[in-house]
Amino acid sequence: STQLVWFRNDLRTLDHSALSAAARKGPVVGIFLACRRQWRSHGHGANKISFVHRGVVALQDELKALNIPLLYRDIDDFDAAPGTLLEAARRHHAQALHFNREYPLDEQRRDELVADEFTRAGLAVFDYTDHIAFEPGELLTGQDEYYKVFTPFSRAWHQRVGADQLALRETPRCQAKLEISSDRIPALTRQDLSDVVSPAPSKTKDRPWPAGQEAAADRLATFLQQRARRYADDRDFPAIDGTSGLSAYLSTGMISHRQCLQAVMANNGGHLADGGAGLASWTSELIWREFYQHIAVGFPRVCRHRPFKLETDKLNWRYSDKDFKAWCEGRTGFPLVDAAMRQLVATGWMHNRLRMVTAMFLSKHLLLDWRRGEAFFMQHLVDGDFASNNGGWQWAASTGTDASPYFRIFNPTTQSRRFDPDATFIAHWLPELADLPATARHEPSAEERHKTDYPQAIVDHKRARERALEAFKSLS
Ligand code: FAD
Repeated sequence: STQLVWFRNDLRTLDHSALSAAARKGPVVGIFLACRRQWRSHGHGANKISFVHRGVVALQDELKALNIPLLYRDIDDFDAAPGTLLEAARRHHAQALHFNREYPLDEQRRDELVADEFTRAGLAVFDYTDHIAFEPGELLTGQDEYYKVFTPFSRAWHQRVGADQLALRETPRCQAKLEISSDRIPALTRQDLSDVVSPAPSKTKDRPWPAGQEAAADRLATFLQQRARRYADDRDFPAIDGTSGLSAYLSTGMISHRQCLQAVMANNGGHLADGGAGLASWTSELIWREFYQHIAVGFPRVCRHRPFKLETDKLNWRYSDKDFKAWCEGRTGFPLVDAAMRQLVATGWMHNRLRMVTAMFLSKHLLLDWRRGEAFFMQHLVDGDFASNNGGWQWAASTGTDASPYFRIFNPTTQSRRFDPDATFIAHWLPELADLPATARHEPSAEERHKTDYPQAIVDHKRARERALEAFKSLS
């Protein structure tokens, strides 16, 4: 008999809770279910789908080195998961199914249905906490409630975290060859990708995102060697390659948060915080990632397109396809916003500071429903992750947990002068402005806009700010 390990957003063989535990019980067979229609209904675009696909191909290779076959099934929807997994389990004489937990609502429901089906069939199911350090519900306030504010959550996280959460899971040893062969993973066709919401990835979009755990480990090593020590100082400046670039790898599990945290300790005098090497702020970002996963479970309404702050459901968002399109296409006339949107569309990634700036611009300056922006990001991001994306959007729109207060509205031009002081990021993504003096690139004059064919600003900052303040005030 065998142990069936179902890979989902944990596309690696190293430090993998389910794989490690299953291999202790017997020979392992892996399985991956491609659920394109479901992914599309979750808004994922071609960048992410292609990255996952390449990640599964890499995983099959990594598993091969351990003599573990990887089965591959194309099912459209999560609904087909229980039947498909049970059929594979029976065919390959599996005694049990093992998987690492996922937290958004649809994924939780799917897993419950799968567990029911296996239990009815008399097969065992083991699920594991793997994607984050603590299971949602494990870290609660003194009133036994989910934290709604990051700082006390983070404090509790630091107080409780220990070897149980941090120790790397054992990598299985190479097993004896089974009589089961891996499935051929069909290539993604243009047709496959035209079926999803964003255009097929171009070669240039694909190139910076090599998939697999080796590529992820390389990125982590480069970050530690070249950037980690300056992270706290550099992380807010989009023109500097100052962050890890690991988000896509973390969200698909090509690297684990434990591997990242172990690397922090190894380079920070054994500490996760305050080790003197500037890595405490990087740990903190990894805790933000975990915080939003807990929020998705503690407040499942956020998984149903509802705001965390229910009163903001009544906010009178404007409806303007024209303004939305200008934002999507990087033609708002605010250079930092436009440069950022062009970075997103061209590369499938956007710097965190700019995600905040562009999200706030859409939800406050344009007063457009944050959910439109959330969906557009999801469609393009290679690191698209429901909990972090939703959390980030609700933060910017002041509808979420620990959100930015509604009256603190970033001035995009001030942000530009502060975080892109030489306007080099702007010059890179808006070549039409590259020949202007740096100071003019933040806010070109009407004449400079005319000459360079760069659009006039679609809103006036002050007036747009007033409009947003009025809309939020009218809620109280
Ligand atoms: P680093 O600075 O190196 O940080 C290390 C890791 O910590 C990241 O890889 C990521 O896993 C995590 N992290 C960092 N910042 C945050 C944060 N604010 N919230 C949650 N996790 C964080 N992140 C995603 O992974 N997927 C998304 O879909 C996503 N959408 C976002 C939307 C908005 C509107 C905002 C404001 C933020 C969003 N983020 C998202 C968070 C953050 O912008 C990215 O994780 C970060 O820019 C990725 O770059 P990096 O890997 O170089 O990060």
